[in-house]
Amino acid sequence: MTDDAIGYDTLVLGGGVAGCVLAARLSEDPDRTVCLVEAGPDLGPDRNTWPDGVLNARALPREEVWERHAPAHRIRARLLGGSSCINGCWNTWGSEADHAAWARRGGPRWTATAMEPYRLAALSQMGMSQAPEREFSPWSTSALAAAAELGYSQVDMGTPGGPGYGTPLLNAVDGVRHNAAFAYLDEARPRPNLTIIGNATVERLDIRGGRVRGALVETDGRQRTLLADSYLLACGTFGSPALLMRSGIGPANHLLDLGIRSEADLPGVGSNLVDQPGVFVPLQPTDELNAALAAKEADGDLYVSRMLVRAASELCPVGSWDLHILPVAGPPLFGKLPPGQYEAGISAFVMNPASRGTVRLTSADSATPPQIDPGFLTDEDGHDLAVLRSGLEIVQRMAATTALKSLAAPVQGQPAHHLSDQDLRARLGTYWHPVGTCAMGTADDPLAVVDGEGRVRGTTNLRVVDASVLPTVPAANTQLPVLAAAEMLADLIRGER
Ligand SMILES: Cc1cc2nc3c(=O)[nH]c(=O)nc-3n(C[C@H](O)[C@H](O)[C@H](O)COP(=O)(O)OP(=O)(O)OC[C@H]3O[C@@H](n4cnc5c(N)ncnc54)[C@H](O)[C@@H]3O)c2cc1C
Repeated sequence: MTDDAIGYDTLVLGGGVAGCVLAARLSEDPDRTVCLVEAGPDLGPDRNTWPDGVLNARALPREEVWERHAPAHRIRARLLGGSSCINGCWNTWGSEADHAAWARRGGPRWTATAMEPYRLAALSQMGMSQAPEREFSPWSTSALAAAAELGYSQVDMGTPGGPGYGTPLLNAVDGVRHNAAFAYLDEARPRPNLTIIGNATVERLDIRGGRVRGALVETDGRQRTLLADSYLLACGTFGSPALLMRSGIGPANHLLDLGIRSEADLPGVGSNLVDQPGVFVPLQPTDELNAALAAKEADGDLYVSRMLVRAASELCPVGSWDLHILPVAGPPLFGKLPPGQYEAGISAFVMNPASRGTVRLTSADSATPPQIDPGFLTDEDGHDLAVLRSGLEIVQRMAATTALKSLAAPVQGQPAHHLSDQDLRARLGTYWHPVGTCAMGTADDPLAVVDGEGRVRGTTNLRVVDASVLPTVPAANTQLPVLAAAEMLADLIRGER
């Protein structure tokens, strides 16, 4: 231990979506000292000091990320506010079945009914609202009509319910991304009991006898040890399992291979990675659509999408949904097109995949990125491929509606739902909602890493509170569920004093 050890009541490790909620809510208690530690920069409350790309909600930025040139499924933010600073600002909610699955593993506090107050708290704190009409391009407006033409009814995307189409809630106003650092920390920063340390990577936890004795943190090439009574890990789905494994908590054999002394043999750490794969079906925009999108862009109101369909595959339980169908038109997500030309198309995403991937270390050194295998479409029963094909068939029908076919034509070639498995795999993308690598579960679940209150098995003062504890991915975008889960666990932790 270095001689500049500093102590707090609670250390929050990782300043992303969940970390911002935890730091803000726990420091509302003036008798608790809280320190929030983030590997990336703390850009502060003044919007003028933030890069335009990170504030601009019209595009997904590639700034302030862990690895600049990594494959898409590895992209994650490295700055205070976490992935809320670089994400699509879309907020939707999962189904009753998603919550029932969580409640079976984590107890009744995870049901949709029990989580409702926390969902509402997150909506309010993030200032989420419906997109104003001017942000709808002709493509998005026609996509609403197309969904109705296919027989879907309009639903509220922010609540459970059934299949249907609608508009997600946004945490962006006038094109400015309102991230979790703004929403949760602006009012918390002046509190004397809250310390925020940016540019500080947690290398590992010093754990002995099941108790965390300190967090070893690297700042500006210098190591310090931060001490606390309790430690809350919020480094995200890739960062939290990596930090646990570097600290000796994880699959014992894997740690042995890397020369890391095992403190707790938890095979679930870094296992059970689940993310939502999807395929984008490109369409050829007409000259009229290109011109209309160009006019929108000139007005500063071009957003690639403002609607989605919650759809059910043939394998989906009646009354629920297991697909997001997402029509987009605008500048391409990857690459560039000549001025005045845009990309149009429709994606299908598998929302409740059965396949599982892994996060593993290749070195005990915190500077070496973990190995991430998303495991897309690897389930033995072929469930995910079948759901994907079903979604692509819906895409095909949506593209052929009267509302959309006058704006964009099919491109040459086989319809996507008839492509070979190999071709589909080659076209696979991610919806960027990875969860599950420190999954909660019951005491008899060999893969459980935490209990329903976030406590790490075999330890006494360590919790994980972030997307990694969700054992299954909800049929939703994950930001709002993670915000609500962090609100709920913060409330629980506050009540323990
Ligand atoms: C490109 C992209 C687009 C997305 N779009 C949407 C969307 O439109 N809607 C939606 O609902 N969800 C979206 N998501 C998902 C959503 O952002 C995540 O579900 C959410 O951010 C998860 O919160 P978290 O707190 O678990 O992790 P994060 O928000 O990722 O926070 C983790 C934080 O921990 C820090 N950290 C990691 N390791 C360490 C360490 N060793 N020491 C110190 N700090 C560390 C990181 O730098 C980061 O700030 C998107 C994600 C991405 C990447």
